[in-house]
Amino acid sequence: MKEYLSDKINDLPASATLTMAAKARELKNKGVDIIGLSLGEPDFNTPEYIKDAAISAVKDNYNSYTPVDGYLELKQSISTKFSRDNNLKYNVSQIVVSTGAKQSIANAVQALVKPGEEVILLAPFWVSYSAIVLMAEGVPKIIASDINSNFKVSAKEIEKAITDKTKMIIINSPNNPSGSIFSKKELDEIATVLRKYPNIFILSDEIYEHINYGVEHVSFASLEGMYERTITVNGIAKAFAMTGWRIGYIGAPDWIAKACTKLQGQVTSGANCIAQKATVKALTESPKKINYMVEEFKERKKLIINLLSNIKGFKLNNPDGAFYVFPDISYYFGKEIDGEIINSASDFAMVVLEKAHVATVTGDAFGCPNNIRISYAASQESIIEAVSRINKLLN
Ligand code: GLU
Repeated sequence: MKEYLSDKINDLPASATLTMAAKARELKNKGVDIIGLSLGEPDFNTPEYIKDAAISAVKDNYNSYTPVDGYLELKQSISTKFSRDNNLKYNVSQIVVSTGAKQSIANAVQALVKPGEEVILLAPFWVSYSAIVLMAEGVPKIIASDINSNFKVSAKEIEKAITDKTKMIIINSPNNPSGSIFSKKELDEIATVLRKYPNIFILSDEIYEHINYGVEHVSFASLEGMYERTITVNGIAKAFAMTGWRIGYIGAPDWIAKACTKLQGQVTSGANCIAQKATVKALTESPKKINYMVEEFKERKKLIINLLSNIKGFKLNNPDGAFYVFPDISYYFGKEIDGEIINSASDFAMVVLEKAHVATVTGDAFGCPNNIRISYAASQESIIEAVSRINKLLN
């Protein structure tokens, strides 16, 4: 039936994170005892105060279409959040609420990128950036990095990658999958380069802002000269354990926000009304209320790093944020594990899934072919069991 599908769909890679999660789910349904560490999804419940706001919204008959760009009340709370947490002043007309940060990113890329224009991606990059750029007929221009630079690309390397076709650069700090966070100094250096190229737009994906273990979070739009051409993306999924509620948002120059709203008006009509009401509550309350989750992620990070560093051939960085570890496992390339020759990180992730029943994601999908991503947004018990299974398999 492939011949009936559009070239766009045939050429589109499936999301590696969601594919792995689906595989794990399928095996689980067949009765296999899988430990799922593939998906970036907090295992906490959405906090009660947020759930209560959603229940009230249902009871208060919030059931109609919302404005395409989101309820005014929600956009006001986002505007307040931006000035409270990020030192950014966005009017409500500069804010667009969407069905998850993924749609916010897709909207912005579709709104700005013309066929053939290049979008700079800093590897490791979140799996969907490249697919989203390709859907807009843009060209992903990937700059590699590895564990030796703590998975950070320098301003110099970025400048080298700029051509007269460069339209956008996507910056993601804290980073999924490496957990690295750009310091203010590093971001300033990048901004210094970009000030020389006024036609390049910056998409700053700050979805892991609150999953931070003590490094200052700097919003790219707050740097000198960047506000006018930065799209700041954020959402509630990761910090508030609300992945399935699907609410993301942008703060951007007015004309970009308008373009995103126009696009969204033809695609989804806007985000879910109940989830929007719940998000007002999530953003209005102090972010300190979710500290207990961040503290627990911090403990789990220590635990998993400790455990993984005892496994032969695993090279690890020490993430400053998000909830992933991204070990370099290239030591195993060319070697045999339980009868299977490992030629790539995908082979490695597959063997670990099939033989140790632990789901992870190959680094290939993130532009780092020597690594795998392991999410530690799971209980300490699951982490201990998962690492022990991997260790047993590799021994
Ligand atoms: N962003 C999460 C991840 O990287 C959720 C899955 C997805 O949408 O890719 O695992």
